[in-house]
Amino acid sequence: MRKAIVIGAGVAGIASAIRMAVKGYNVGVFESNSYAGGKLSEINLESFRFDAGPSLFTMPQYVDELFTLAGKNPKDYFEYEKLEEICRYFYEDGLKLTAFADATKFGEELAKNTNSNSAEIDNFLKKSKTIYDITHKVFLERTLHKVKSYLHWDTLKSVFRFGKIDAFRTQNKANESFFKDKRIVQLFNRYATYNGSNPYQAPATLNVIPHFEYHFGAFLPKKGMYSITLALVKLAEDLGVKFHFNQKVEAINYHNKKIKGILVGGEHIAADVVISNLDVWFTYKNLLKDLPPPKKLLNQERSSSALIFYWGIKNIHPELNLHNILFAANYEAEFDTIWKEKSIPHDPTIYINITSKHIESDAPEGCENWFVMINVPADSGQNWDQLIKDARQHIIAKINRILEKAITEDIICEEILDPRSIEFKTGSYQGSLYGNSSNNQFAAFLRHPNFISKISGLYFCGGSVHPGGGIPLALLSAKIIDNEIG
Ligand code: FAD
Repeated sequence: MRKAIVIGAGVAGIASAIRMAVKGYNVGVFESNSYAGGKLSEINLESFRFDAGPSLFTMPQYVDELFTLAGKNPKDYFEYEKLEEICRYFYEDGLKLTAFADATKFGEELAKNTNSNSAEIDNFLKKSKTIYDITHKVFLERTLHKVKSYLHWDTLKSVFRFGKIDAFRTQNKANESFFKDKRIVQLFNRYATYNGSNPYQAPATLNVIPHFEYHFGAFLPKKGMYSITLALVKLAEDLGVKFHFNQKVEAINYHNKKIKGILVGGEHIAADVVISNLDVWFTYKNLLKDLPPPKKLLNQERSSSALIFYWGIKNIHPELNLHNILFAANYEAEFDTIWKEKSIPHDPTIYINITSKHIESDAPEGCENWFVMINVPADSGQNWDQLIKDARQHIIAKINRILEKAITEDIICEEILDPRSIEFKTGSYQGSLYGNSSNNQFAAFLRHPNFISKISGLYFCGGSVHPGGGIPLALLSAKIIDNEIG
């Protein structure tokens, strides 16, 4: 029986393992942590449960298809619900908006409270759909690194329509042309942060992202985001995949341009196929030390990182829902501080995720589990301890100001995740959340491919390689490898 080894049990690693098992391989997954999921894991703090990283579930069909591929019913493993409210937005000028999943309802909300209206939303979402229609087959579902990808009729059709993907102006410029109200420009600029980029630099092609939410929907697994990991691990195990935890892989072994296996615990383990799910930067640095690295691809600007406070909160805050954003007064200045000064702004945009609004068991009665996150630069040796201390004060002051509360006394327990601990826990270089940033229009072509010609049988999946970061794209990297192996 042919043998496949997956290094890393992040979501793309588990998906790759499932796909290889379905192909009939004997599959082993080697993971350095004691648990699966990488960024998609959970934290338990006193009687509170938190999803550690991702909080927004989009494109669930890419998870479902792993179950159907294996001849199973996804609902037997995990369930999720479609959200009617995507997010609540709070502005420093007192404006409060609810982004309803139903675009008509959202349009009415804008018309009632802002200088924007339904027609603007409709035009914007039409453009978002056009970008998706042109790009998804080319940029998301195939490798960009083989001629055969460009010989498909649908790829060629897309190439002829590239002028329409809005790659030559920034996302902010495009959004200013769609919306009269600056606050709605800000709302849609935020989508650049979904892959750790800067809307004042990134191409307007990133306006494809709202299509994921407003067309396909925003979802929440009924037992939280971590249940995606647990369900996929269970599926993999049902297919015979063996997980080896606390096993840090030390090298990828190859000979005469052909994969031989891995080195772990000083022992060589043979395989016909090796799929590396760890950050590609560390794959070269630590596991392929003798191979000249593709410097241009590896030295691209990293995506942003995050500072997260997991707070057990006493009291219920009815003005908040599952996803909440408290916007910075000056959004451009916030991105300048993050990207140019590589620091944390005094007035950051704050994201508060509260799963206990939907999943009662995530917090004790009368309490809530607040996941409070701000975007911060990737780690380049900043004085994080000082920055975190200051940021905590600014965040609390802003929440108190905007929600007209005094939340300090409500925080009954706390844990913190910052760029250093993200790198330590998940092996993400500099703690960046999504691999390279998408701050220029060539970014898609400057991500590492899912294979290399120098070593046959070696593949790369996950958020740091093509097609990019975020759960849906990480899952697509596993699908591309599946297609390449044939
Ligand atoms: P990773 O999660 O990066 O896991 C890699 C695994 O490899 C880890 O388990 C690590 O321990 C293991 N590993 C590393 N080195 C070795 C070694 N030498 N040997 C063995 N194992 C090793 N995405 C969304 O879709 N929606 C969101 O709302 C969202 N929000 C996010 C918020 C935060 C705070 C973070 C951190 C990420 C967020 N993301 C979000 C991004 C998403 O989590 C990632 O893109 C995705 O989970 C990456 O998965 P991956 O397959 O690349 O593996």
